Amino acid sequence: MSERRSALVTGSTSGIGLGIARALAKSGMNVTLNGLGDAAEIERVRAALAEEAGVAVRFDGADLMQADACTGLVDGAVAAFGRLDVLVNNAGIQFVSPVEDFPVEKWNAIIALNLSSAFHTISAAMRGMKARAYGRIINIASAHALVASPFKSAYVAAKHGVLGLTKAVALEGAPFNVRCNAISPGYVLTPLVENQIPDTMKARGMTRDQVINDVLLAAQPTKQFVRIEDVAGLALFLTTPAADQINGASLSIDGGWTAQ
Ligand code: NAD
Repeated sequence: MSERRSALVTGSTSGIGLGIARALAKSGMNVTLNGLGDAAEIERVRAALAEEAGVAVRFDGADLMQADACTGLVDGAVAAFGRLDVLVNNAGIQFVSPVEDFPVEKWNAIIALNLSSAFHTISAAMRGMKARAYGRIINIASAHALVASPFKSAYVAAKHGVLGLTKAVALEGAPFNVRCNAISPGYVLTPLVENQIPDTMKARGMTRDQVINDVLLAAQPTKQFVRIEDVAGLALFLTTPAADQINGASLSIDGGWTAQ
């Protein structure tokens, strides 16, 4: 078994997940990356991170829409590094539509990836974490785990569900030194947010600038996007001994959005 801790970050080929994977690798953990995207670009990112951090970085392209793919992803990470210490459930998608027009396949996909995949990876990882008496599970939720916005029924439902899952797992893991927490970011300018701007423009009849200032940042009193590095820093903190008594929490990093 490697002496290094090992981390698995779902949806880490881009955006917040890649930022978290980078922070964990640079802290000295071996890392399993996961996600979709161009194979050559992913290999470039993987190799660069391994070189920069001086740890082992592997990639598993499991499509987490399916339960067995989630289980296989966890089993592969444990097999490769002999242990899984940190599990970050980050993979997520978004779709914006009035509820009466919300396509059922989009609802099913968002629930499958944003909520059920976290259940499946946790379920697969928990036995080993309990047996080794160590585990840090971090679920990337959202301000939309605490409050709603119109036209995001599936996303808001899934993210509220993630918080419930987080609390239940926190209680089950507590006697075994397994912690489970959620990070709930406000708006971070990643491809996920970029991609919803055109749909929001259409749904609300607005320009791009209006969507950014009057819809996205309207909710954030700081009037600034959260940075990927900010979310990554909070995730890294949750893997340190100073966070040992943080369990079952939703940690907001949203510029004050949910203080309102
Ligand atoms: P992103 O689109 O940049 O990254 C999403 C990642 O998930 C990518 O690596 C993608 O390849 C992966 N992914 C997509 N479908 C997948 C599948 N079927 N199987 C495996 N991986 C898949 O998005 P992001 O903004 O970095 O979002 C990451 C997480 O943070 C999501 O859970 C999102 O809901 C949450 N979040 C984002 C924001 C924001 O403003 N960007 C705010 C709050 C919460």
